[in-house]
Amino acid sequence: MNRAVFLDRDGTLIRDKGFICHFKDVEIFPFSIQSLKMMNEYGFRIIVITNQSAIARGICTEDQVMNIHRKMTGFFKRSGAAIDAFYYSPYLEDAPVPEFRKRDESRKPAPGMILQAAEDFGVNLSESFVIGDSSRDILAGKKAGCKTILVLTGNGPLARVELENLKVKPDLISENLLDAAEKITRDRVFVP
Ligand SMILES: [Mg+2]
Repeated sequence: MNRAVFLDRDGTLIRDKGFICHFKDVEIFPFSIQSLKMMNEYGFRIIVITNQSAIARGICTEDQVMNIHRKMTGFFKRSGAAIDAFYYSPYLEDAPVPEFRKRDESRKPAPGMILQAAEDFGVNLSESFVIGDSSRDILAGKKAGCKTILVLTGNGPLARVELENLKVKPDLISENLLDAAEKITRDRVFVP
């Protein structure tokens, strides 16, 4: 059994402050460490999947984004919580940086990052979760065949309305990442 929680970054694991190019601007939610520990202990791989169109927009470099992810991994590790990997999509259609100007299957709501990570880590998608604060996260998760949890931090309240309009129902709506982690691991709401 190889199960994963695919986590959105901005608005889910850290505060959504728009485009972030430096680790000093990263504000990790106070509940994130405990949430990851709970899911680690339950045996889930933790894989962060994040759209980073700031790269295609010429706002941040790819090196800056990768550096943030390295430092976040280190921060969590020192706090006793493991992140197995970060996947990011630098692409955007009609973006100013030619190298990254394209419609790409990695950019959520497409499921490319989830499918790639599942292949890389041998993840069973039907027993895995996608947790995010955007309708794109939920749509990507459903396309990949995962269970989906919308969190009401960040863009969550707006996403909830968007999803209702689209008639797309997440498997669960949670206050925040900790609430989601508790539902999965402690309350075991998804265990038949
Ligand atoms: Mg987000």
